[in-house]
Amino acid sequence: AKADGRNTHRFFAPEMAERLKSFHDLKLGLHEALRQGEFELHYQPLVCTGESGIRGFEALIRWRRPGRGLIRPADFIPVAEETGLIGPIGEWALREACREAARWPDGIGISVNVSSVQFRDKGLVESVRRALADTELAPGRLELEITESVLLQDDDANLGTLRELRALGARIVMDDFGTGYSALGYLCRFRFDKVKIDRSFVANLPRCDGSTAVVQAVAGMGRNLGIVITAEGVEEQSQLDAVRRLGCHEAQGYLFSRPVPAAEVPALIARLRES
Ligand code: C2E
Ligand code: CA
Ligand code: CA
Ligand code: CA
Repeated sequence: AKADGRNTHRFFAPEMAERLKSFHDLKLGLHEALRQGEFELHYQPLVCTGESGIRGFEALIRWRRPGRGLIRPADFIPVAEETGLIGPIGEWALREACREAARWPDGIGISVNVSSVQFRDKGLVESVRRALADTELAPGRLELEITESVLLQDDDANLGTLRELRALGARIVMDDFGTGYSALGYLCRFRFDKVKIDRSFVANLPRCDGSTAVVQAVAGMGRNLGIVITAEGVEEQSQLDAVRRLGCHEAQGYLFSRPVPAAEVPALIARLRES
């Protein structure tokens, strides 16, 4: 047993130490990033599958870390959530997105991701209310994207928060639909304004029968319940043709554009309006 213990120690310690160090390094880096304003938002268009063109943009956060380039959210959001820093980071993203969108043409909306940790925080409703008031963005132009997994513990507190957010005039979006377990049940209890079908389904279109059936069923549900259905991760024309044929209202993906910095948004709006 003693020998085992030693082996275990030898085997795990360096890896553990490394992971702890990188966690600590990220945590310090994120504090610094907040102080120094190293975060930026990039914007990816949401496009109508019918005639009416561009509908809005999703704000996606990036961290321009000195000496390390542009860091994607998957590499720092988990640590931000674990350390509670997602609170101030999320609040910054919300305000920045609203401030930027307030300068765009009236019909164009802005979607902001809300992390599960933020969603459970008592202060969320108040920070959304203040962001709208301070930036004078029309509340109906703001969409809040909440991932399906947040709703796993489908308690009354969640429902209460969703209703309060909607009462502010914001639209409530279920993100990554199809990746969790609770989504269908939840749709009975709260009428989301929009459901985004996870890109894992779209990736298999148009050839996969299973994905085709799922996307078609979700689009049918959207029609019956008056929920806008968005297909994520549309990269190819054949996928756009498929989601359009299957009844999705909106599409988002590299086919139209990668997420772009704020300065490129006006040109992108112009390009998407022409095509
Ligand atoms: P998400 O909300 O599902 O965002 C969509 C992700 O798919 C984005 O990755 C986007 O760049 C990527 N994407 C868009 N079109 C395509 C496509 O055609 N093909 C492929 N392969 N990918 C596509 P990104 O920007 O790296 O963001 C990853 C995740 O990080 C987001 O997933 C979201 O969960 C989270 N995130 C991003 N910004 C924020 C934020 O401000 N706050 C919080 N809490 N989470 C954020
Ligand atoms: Ca999203
Ligand atoms: Ca998504
Ligand atoms: Ca996702």
